Amino acid sequence: MEAMTFVLFGSTGDLAKRKIFPALYNLFVDSKMPEAFSVIGLGRKSFNDATFQTYVEQALEEFSRNKPENRESVDAFLRSIRYHILNVDDTAGYQELLKIVETREAELNIPQNRMFYMSVAPEFFEVIATNIKDSGLGTTTGWKRLIIEKPFGHDLSSARQLNEQLSKTFAEEEIFRIDHYLGKPMVQNLESLASTNPAIQALWNNRHIANVQITAAETVGVEERAGYYDHTGAIRDMMQNHMLQVLMMTAMTLPAGHTVDDVRSHKKHIAQSLRSISKEDAHKHIVRAQYSAGESNGKALASYQDEPGITPGSMTDTFIAARVWVDDFSWQGVPFYIRTGKRMKEKSTRIVIEFKDVMKNEDICVACDAQPNMLVISINPDQKITLQLNHKNVITGRLEPMTAEFKVGSDNEPEAYELLIYDALRGDATFFAHWDEVELSWQWVQPILEAFADNDLPIHHYAAGTYGPEASNELLAVEGFQWLKDQ
Ligand code: NAD
Repeated sequence: MEAMTFVLFGSTGDLAKRKIFPALYNLFVDSKMPEAFSVIGLGRKSFNDATFQTYVEQALEEFSRNKPENRESVDAFLRSIRYHILNVDDTAGYQELLKIVETREAELNIPQNRMFYMSVAPEFFEVIATNIKDSGLGTTTGWKRLIIEKPFGHDLSSARQLNEQLSKTFAEEEIFRIDHYLGKPMVQNLESLASTNPAIQALWNNRHIANVQITAAETVGVEERAGYYDHTGAIRDMMQNHMLQVLMMTAMTLPAGHTVDDVRSHKKHIAQSLRSISKEDAHKHIVRAQYSAGESNGKALASYQDEPGITPGSMTDTFIAARVWVDDFSWQGVPFYIRTGKRMKEKSTRIVIEFKDVMKNEDICVACDAQPNMLVISINPDQKITLQLNHKNVITGRLEPMTAEFKVGSDNEPEAYELLIYDALRGDATFFAHWDEVELSWQWVQPILEAFADNDLPIHHYAAGTYGPEASNELLAVEGFQWLKDQ
């Protein structure tokens, strides 16, 4: 891997502390960082290099999977880090930053490969990109890349505007848009699940699959993020990005030995094939809801309206479910149901593939008590693949479901941020969101946002600690299905 400088905007923030520095350190420990590298942390807080290095060490102590125990290794890592106070709109400050970057490049004798990481609030993305260009930081004799956090826009037009601004400084192939769901090992596995397993590949289409259900359920409420969440809702926070990315990863059909470009073009194809939902029809395909008071394990849970910082009478969706049709040859007629919510009964991110129940389609019911075959891909908190089949109980003579479970992953395996930062350092964009995918996702979501804004569809309520509103069950009942694994 080529030597480089890692310039981190927002280095004193929560994400840097919990994810980014631990990721860099773990890569370092696992010998996945370049031989020589420099990290420049930026922020408004008053640190010098030494106090910032101590701050980073504390972050590693608290959040890193590899604890900073080996003194030699910790010191070697911390020695690579410098800190610079920089307000994002301080143009003179960028000149100072350029000097620091160049000095470190000279000291380490490394090429001008520069990775810029924006771990700051989205309103700063544009001004930082402009200043990177104007200061000369972005004019390098090596490569330059940008890693950018979500949210990428608030709606279709703001996303387009942001992309246009960024593209004045960075070419598309230099932009790595983080969607940390794409860093989850089981989501990354979707790339090879169908393409390397002929048994699954043969079934991965509308001849055999009855429906696909993608769930991302959280048990937490809005926590301390009320100010952000109340203007965002589940549709922007989860649906437009993570849920649609997982859908694209599930529905793409790749040849074995595929390339990055294959992944991107297949995902784009799926995004293009999403049947649009008009503002007028949103109520038929979308269920939005908000949690009311409830309980979990005997503990009372407040309603969304009673959470600190929520605007009284807020109509923000804390739950959203959608029926999505993918108008593609392989998926014609297969509904994809996606749902995500806060304060749900269990924390679980999973994909359920329900296979067609051939027996029941026969004129004569040969195995009426057979359950549909199912493949459940559990992404979080467990990582496993479960296959449900039928077998005959020899005592009762009746069919019963049986499951085979394949556990994936191990303790102390790399986290999403490690995998993603490692890929970005190598210039591998497979698991980052291309602008085409982001734009197509916003295009699909935009009429639904407008329907929400105009209150064209009701806001349902569900008790905190449950699986969501009854209306989300009705969404599936239209095609004769139900959410699987809800008890
Ligand atoms: P944070 O508020 O904890 O940190 C923000 C950082 O920005 C700090 O380092 C602060 O010094 C810096 N900053 C603020 N104003 C500045 C200014 N005027 N000039 C220079 N620096 C300034 O935020 P965070 O939780 O670390 O999130 C950072 C970004 O990552 C946001 O875009 C957020 O949406 C995104 N994100 C965060 C998480 C998470 O888990 N925290 C997850 C996904 C995405």
